[in-house]
Amino acid sequence: MSDVRNVIIIGSGPAGYTAALYTARAALKPLVFEGAVSAGGALMNTTEVENFPGFQDGIMGPDLMDNMRGQAERFGAELIPDDIVAVDLTGDIKTVTDSEGTVHRARAVIVSTGSQHRKLGLPREDELSGRGVSWCATCDGFFFRDQDIVVVGGGDTAMEEATFLSRFAKSVTVVHRRDSLRASKTMQDRAVADPKIGFAWNSEVAEIHGEAKLSGLTLRDTVTGETRELPVTGLFIAVGHDPRTELFKGQLELDGEGYLRVEAPSTRTNLPGVFGAGDVVDHTYRQAITAAGTGCAAALDAERYLALLA
Ligand code: FAD
Repeated sequence: MSDVRNVIIIGSGPAGYTAALYTARAALKPLVFEGAVSAGGALMNTTEVENFPGFQDGIMGPDLMDNMRGQAERFGAELIPDDIVAVDLTGDIKTVTDSEGTVHRARAVIVSTGSQHRKLGLPREDELSGRGVSWCATCDGFFFRDQDIVVVGGGDTAMEEATFLSRFAKSVTVVHRRDSLRASKTMQDRAVADPKIGFAWNSEVAEIHGEAKLSGLTLRDTVTGETRELPVTGLFIAVGHDPRTELFKGQLELDGEGYLRVEAPSTRTNLPGVFGAGDVVDHTYRQAITAAGTGCAAALDAERYLALLA
């Protein structure tokens, strides 16, 4: 059985690495499980990040995450590129089990496992991510000035993304499988009244085209099965996110959509000594800077919790 650590951090996106940096600088010697295949988190799958403060000329997503990783390591964070496959967070000493079955123990745990955007499941979708295909209008809208764009989805997020993108785009086509939207009436009204936004009802994306960059889509009519080509250079997929909370079900309180519930503005979960940060908690902002911000808050909350135990 391993020694009891002060703090274990599960997840290595902006939230996890920031929590690691702060807890390392507080001399808590954090142990970070980065994930087996996706260490560095969501920004490892993108190209340029222009909205993370401090980088005047922007920075490539993987470079930003390498910098965060290195900064945490420099102050003594121990980083392990492995998945946690089981947890027991209920007692004073928490246990987490890695993929080889080794059990690690700590007095505090920070959960920063992020959330997974839902995909369309089409060929070329991953290859063209950051090259015309996006899941975040706030992040990437600026790159699509005067271009023809598609937004897929029919909920509030899709309407919000379409309305935001119409500021930059030449045209925005909302592609929706049905003939009516799920979005709230206010969001719908705003999108429908926008002269740059059009709707492809009863439609789905059947194919994504482009080699180095997105060059167009094939749409399929969900009623007749007919297909048509749409020459667009932007595809924003807004069909939902799945927070990575499966591991914590039955122990940590989740909200109706499966996100970790915390006592905002703190990062405390329902279990003493367990804190939540980043997109696994947040279904509103979902930005690298907000994830880093709550990662910092979780580290400070954990530090105070541990100080009271001493
Ligand atoms: P994530 O970055 O998702 O990291 C979660 C980490 O947890 C991953 O490393 C994963 O491996 C790990 N993990 C999960 N489960 C386990 C487990 N069981 N054991 C161990 N590890 C685990 N935001 C911006 O501000 N600007 C942008 O330009 C921008 N562009 C984006 C482009 C793309 C393509 C995407 C997908 C997102 C973009 N975002 C952008 C959003 C931003 O990436 C997220 O808001 C941010 O990464 C969330 O950080 P996080 O630390 O909460 O989670």
